[in-house]
Amino acid sequence: MQNATNQPTGGAGIFFDGQTSARQTVTVGLGASGLSIAGPDGAVLAAWPYDDIEELAWPGHVLRLGRRGPGLERLEISDPALAAAIDVHAHHVDRTGTVQRRQRQSVIGWSVAATLALVVGGYYGVPALAEKAAPLVPAGLERRMGDAVDMQVRSSLDTRNLGEGFECGAADGEKPGRAALEKMVGRLASAGPPTPLRVTVVRRDEPNAIALPGGQIYVFHGLIAKADNADEIAGVIAHEIGHIAHRDGTKAVLQAGGLSFLFGMLLGDFVGGGAVVFTARKVLQSSYTREAETAADAYAAMLMNRAQGDVRALGTLLARIGGAHEPGIRILLDHPETRARVAALNRMPLAQTPVPFLNPGEFAALKRICAGR
Ligand SMILES: [Zn+2]
Repeated sequence: MQNATNQPTGGAGIFFDGQTSARQTVTVGLGASGLSIAGPDGAVLAAWPYDDIEELAWPGHVLRLGRRGPGLERLEISDPALAAAIDVHAHHVDRTGTVQRRQRQSVIGWSVAATLALVVGGYYGVPALAEKAAPLVPAGLERRMGDAVDMQVRSSLDTRNLGEGFECGAADGEKPGRAALEKMVGRLASAGPPTPLRVTVVRRDEPNAIALPGGQIYVFHGLIAKADNADEIAGVIAHEIGHIAHRDGTKAVLQAGGLSFLFGMLLGDFVGGGAVVFTARKVLQSSYTREAETAADAYAAMLMNRAQGDVRALGTLLARIGGAHEPGIRILLDHPETRARVAALNRMPLAQTPVPFLNPGEFAALKRICAGR
């Protein structure tokens, strides 16, 4: 392959085959149509077409990739040049805006979709349309949607105008807490199907957590303060991952914007307008339907089981918080159906002997993630 732009055509990576927990050092080659992943002996372990590659996370300088579909294979790239080269090739990996440029070409596809939407929407109504259309929204577009909702949510939540400082985990004394959080999130992420994910703890006192379209999860510090162990927090994060996997926030945007949203998308402007404001409010008030909450709880139980965590921990935390009343924003956990949710969670099957998400020292560090300094 020609390499006029001096991009690397290969490099080192870490590969997880999805069957065992073994990490293998591999050589990643950038081919014309996909990545080849070879072991130390040169044997090809996997070949991933670029279209199938999904970005799972890009925290700091490690790019974590998965392959679309039910498999659990993972590839981690630490070399920034190689990561950037993959970004250029893979449609669903996008840090440098390559995909946004490419997405304009998919406008034709979207206009067909919008025409179909008019027909389907006319017959079945907008909520049913949102339900059907949400899984079709491309990842890059969903992330832009999420960014627009994020701006609204941040301005509502960051009442002290802390800006960057609204997020916990950046100060030196907070870094061990952030490392503990990343450990938990990493374990959850590698237990489930590929889902875009970014988990941030923010300086809010309510025991709450919210998920935005595109994969951003905010865990409020008040939730960490109320937790007795790491698995309770992991359970809440797993529940929020459920909302992302089920695209509940994306459905809310589609539902609020209705058909005008689809046309707005064609013109490249969905940011303006009430849909984003509506979704931000919906996320903040956690006014998803009871069905959506039940489904997210079931997802959380599945994920916690697969991660060998304590499935019951989420219910324990819900029960503890459900008893308390917080002024201000109505919290997701303080719901009339809390008791029913806890009972349902307690009926979930326990897969195996749980292994705690964090050791006591790591949990103590997590408790101090918003301590400052
Ligand atoms: Zn929820």
